[in-house]
This record gives sequence, C-alpha cells and structure tokens, in this order.
Amino acid sequence: MNDPLDWIDEEANFHAARGLTRWVSVRDPSLINFASNDYLGLASDPRVIAAARDAADRFGFGSGASALVTGWTSPHEELAAALAEFERVQAIALFPTGYAANLGTIAALVEKGDAVYVDRLNHASLIDGVRLSGATLRVYPHVDAERLETILARDRGRFRRSIIATDGVFSMDGDLAPLERMVEIGERHRAMILVDEAHGTGVFGPEGRGASARFGVSDRVHVRVGTLSKALGSLGGFVAGSRRLIDHVINHARAMIYSTALPPACAGAAREALSVSLSEPWRREHLHRLGLALRHSLSERGWSVAPSIGPIVPVIIGEPDQAMSLSATLRDRGFLVPAIRPPTVPDGTSRLRISLSAGHEEAMVEGLVAALGTRPRN
Ligand code: PMP
Repeated sequence: MNDPLDWIDEEANFHAARGLTRWVSVRDPSLINFASNDYLGLASDPRVIAAARDAADRFGFGSGASALVTGWTSPHEELAAALAEFERVQAIALFPTGYAANLGTIAALVEKGDAVYVDRLNHASLIDGVRLSGATLRVYPHVDAERLETILARDRGRFRRSIIATDGVFSMDGDLAPLERMVEIGERHRAMILVDEAHGTGVFGPEGRGASARFGVSDRVHVRVGTLSKALGSLGGFVAGSRRLIDHVINHARAMIYSTALPPACAGAAREALSVSLSEPWRREHLHRLGLALRHSLSERGWSVAPSIGPIVPVIIGEPDQAMSLSATLRDRGFLVPAIRPPTVPDGTSRLRISLSAGHEEAMVEGLVAALGTRPRN
C-alpha cells in the first residue's frame, strides 16, 4: 500500500545523492564554537543571564499572549525605549523573531500592485515577506546598485508603491550592501528603503548602530529591521522607524498580531546586552581585530576567503561534500565550523562559514588556522 508520505523518501534520496541532506545535531560544548552569531559574546554573559532571570522571576517565563493583548510587559516597554534611543528613532515594534519582523513588516507595507527590489543574496525572510505580501519581486545581482537603478527606471510608473529591501550585512558572505548609493537611488525613484540590520547591530558603525550608521545613512533608511538574537545574545526581532511607520506595523503585521510576544526574559536579556555592548566597546574592537588576523592567515595559506569584513569569514570550498568533509575534519580537531551548502548559498559556492565572537581569544583563532592548515592542491 502506498503511504501518502512516501514522496518524502523520494525527495530525501534526491537530496542525499547531492550531499544536501540537513539535520539538527546537539552542540558539543567541548568544541570551540565558530558557528554562532553571538558576535559580542553576550549570550553567556553573567549580566545578561541575570537580567533574563530577573525578568522571568518577576513576570514568569512565557509572555502568555500577543503583544496587543496582554503579552507586553515592562521589560518589553523598557527594551523598546532603549532600542529607540540606540537607533535614534521615534519608535520600535518588537516581534517574536527577526524572521517574523521581516516577514510581517514587508507584508504590512506592500501588496499586489506594488514591487519589492531585492538583492539576489538577501535573507530568506525578506524574500518570504515579499511572497506573502503578493507584491512583485524584482531581483538584482548581488550588491549591484547600477542594475538596481536600471530595473527601477524600467519599472517607472508600473507599480503603486515600491521598496528596496536589502540585508545591511550579508549573512553568508559577510559583505555590506552599498547603502549610500542605494539610498540615493531610492530617493531618485521615490522608493521606501528597508535595511535588515540582523548582522550589523552591535557590530558595525559608531557604537554598533549597524551598517546604515556605518555609511551615515540611518536617517535616510525608512525601515530598519533588527534582531535580538545575534550580537544582543537573546531572541526576538524589532523594527525601528518613525512613529507613523511603527503604528502602521503594529496594526498590520500579522506575524506580530497573531503570535505570542517574546518572553519578558528575552526582552530583559537583550536590554542588558545592549547596555553592555555600549559600555564595553572593546568587544567590537577585539572582534574586528580577530577578523583581520584570520583573513590574513587564511589567505597566506592559500584559502579562498570571500571579500568580506567583520566577524563573518566565508571560506569558499566549492562542492558540498568537500565543504562537509573539511567541517568534519575541523570537528575532529576540536572546532565547530559549519559547512553551508545550497540552497542557502548558490551552487558551486559551498563554504565553511567561520563566525567570530568577542568571546574568542587570539589563540583560539590561531588554533583554528593551524587545524585547517595549508589549502590542499587538487
Ligand atoms: N535576517 C538575516 C540577514 C539573518 O541572517 C537572520 C537569521 N539567520 C534573520 C534575519 C532572522 O533573524 P532571527 O534569527 O532573529 O529570526
């Protein structure tokens, strides 16, 4: 008898034959972790953990309801105020995750008859938001501002509203969007600009105010989306912008309205992490120094490091099985470095994604380089 789920085995075999099967495994705490987005090393900071505990003690762990019902507590309110001050905006909306923030915000801003212009390497949550919204998706080649402008010019008059949506820092490539040019182009074509600062917050720009701040264009980016789950060591997403934007998002973003608010403990932890990140700039400085040293050592040993800056150091390997086997070798030598394969990255660009943290010591990075050794010639 045929089981209606049999198609799953066929699809799984197809993926397995291409070395693309994914699975979840328990993290081995004895490995040195070069896989996490905990860029400032704050996820395990005792002050951040104490703030989470304090909020949980006072408000319970689960928030119990959507933010618009009774899920919004004083830790949420205090976090929103701290983020608004940090981002220098009028208001903040909080979401259960960064994914939900991108999804919900895009779907709240555009619909059928509108267009969203996205970089080919944008994060899946931006693309999924466009699909959900019903707006037309226009894709331009990675960081190609010229092509973006050509496409916008060609589309002139065709759509009601448009958004240019981009990652500020690209998660798998570690490079930055050309935000100065993009903002100029957006202004010429009267498009809204949305920048996903997931990997920028806490890491780039003055005081870690993100990629937009690094290019000095924060106040020309209409919608800034961020996450609490990377440099801020917690969980949750946020949107930063003008009061009218945030009021609109709160009233229309279904990913927030119909989902339970993040736990007060996550809000408390993120707020403490934000304050530590501001009072300890050495974390950002140390992180960027480690990045420079690692790139230099890897290039010297013949590895192909993608053009990137900051804590994400992609080492391009090529085929999925080669990347997987290098990741396994590193694991045997005590280092956790993930192999990233299609569909997360384009075919032929499977890679090791080394992700640095302010919690790493120089000796750990040197150990990783020694474990990788010199690139074998093939
Ligand atoms: N945007 C980008 C660029 C990301 O890399 C991620 C996380 N991988 C997200 C958004 C989603 O954030 P979160 O993990 O908080 O859902």
